[in-house]
Amino acid sequence: MLLLMCAQIYENWQKLAYHSGCCNIISPHIFNGFYLPLKPGALQCKASLPSALNSVRFTSIVYRIDPTVTHSLANLGEFGLISRIADRVSAPESVITGIGDDAAVTAISPGMQLLTSTDMLLEDVHFRRAWHDPYRLGRKSLAVSISDIAAMGGIPCWALLSLAIPSMLPLDFIDDFMRGFLEMAAEKRVALIGGDTCSSRTGLTVSVTIMGEQHPDRIVRRSGAMPDDDIWVTGTLGDAALGLKLLESGFGSAQPLDSIHSSGNTGAINSSLPSRSSLSGVGGRDYLFSRLLDPVPRVSAALALAEAGLATAMIDVSDGILADYGHIAEQSGVGGCIRLDCLPLSESFCRQTESLPIFPFHLALSGGEDYELCFTADSSNREKVVDCLKKCGIAVTRVGIVTRFSGVTAVNPDGSRYVAQKEGFNHFK
Ligand code: ADP
Ligand code: MG
Repeated sequence: MLLLMCAQIYENWQKLAYHSGCCNIISPHIFNGFYLPLKPGALQCKASLPSALNSVRFTSIVYRIDPTVTHSLANLGEFGLISRIADRVSAPESVITGIGDDAAVTAISPGMQLLTSTDMLLEDVHFRRAWHDPYRLGRKSLAVSISDIAAMGGIPCWALLSLAIPSMLPLDFIDDFMRGFLEMAAEKRVALIGGDTCSSRTGLTVSVTIMGEQHPDRIVRRSGAMPDDDIWVTGTLGDAALGLKLLESGFGSAQPLDSIHSSGNTGAINSSLPSRSSLSGVGGRDYLFSRLLDPVPRVSAALALAEAGLATAMIDVSDGILADYGHIAEQSGVGGCIRLDCLPLSESFCRQTESLPIFPFHLALSGGEDYELCFTADSSNREKVVDCLKKCGIAVTRVGIVTRFSGVTAVNPDGSRYVAQKEGFNHFK
């Protein structure tokens, strides 16, 4: 009984230590009645217990955090951090064993096949802490992986999160990152079932492995496009690329920082962070920043298309429609023709580029990170495609046609071949 009691005290004390970020190694010894020995000055803990040992119940813990001890990853340690993450995760029925064992155990629905994809996000390669606040970075880290499952017509289900973290990164950064990650997970019904955690001697590295499921006959591959199919795209193109251009050109720095500061985010170089305050202003720059920093994976649209059997091939637009449709074309053994005057552009994109002497079509064609869906469909299904996506509340635009011969071209309204003119962007320098 005494042992059980000690274990209870120890367990509760560990939880306190994890959550306060104050202590890493905890001694389980009990001496001098019911006081726990502590690292000097770190954390004080006292358990008060009723006198009869055989009816011992743990009643209270009194603790005091020494203000000289900072909350840091170093104090928390790898296992403290994993526990801190695990404490925030809730598991659906499909997760039989989640975080905490050597491997997760999950149940795939009967008749379904497993879809798996992995992505890495490297600091200063895929993101900059100066621009990506941790909350939105957490959301985006999962969103881009969910987008891959959606692009196959799959139902995203489970994710593994591996983090290589610079030891000096503030704990608040990881907390806000996880808040964003788990919020995206909840929105898209994805369960975090494990991962790996280690320290990094360079920047932050985030690696997400995602798994989803789908009936074999509903999975949509890149290889199914047929000559004369229509080429479609959801949403608008080029917003994220324009947002990135604006940030690179210093246009993000003039934005107010209210919401980011008030949410207590730290660890990012806040002076140049774009604001979250007016994301709904569709004509403004913040809309473009949100498209870059907080992309929304088109899960419901992709699932609706897959379930209706409408998409012959599908991909998510992460590298620009020219390159991404190019993958469909290559794997389907076809070509394609994309019309410039059909490219869907947002109000913000048009407004923010209206003063340029040369319209930056190249951003809409070749700019990355829109995470829209590009898919092909039989031309007899045009109305069905529009109806299907209308039900999901997602805009869809027919941008071109699949050709029999290889090669993907973009054409001007007069039918002449478009040659990219990137000089337009010198004006943002
Ligand atoms: P092992 O040494 O067997 O690889 P770890 O100590 O790395 O185990 O991980 C312990 C448990 O915590 C495992 O279930 C693992 O999947 C999970 N885990 C580790 N890091 C993370 C993380 N960043 N996010 C979610 N789960 C994690
Ligand atoms: Mg491990």
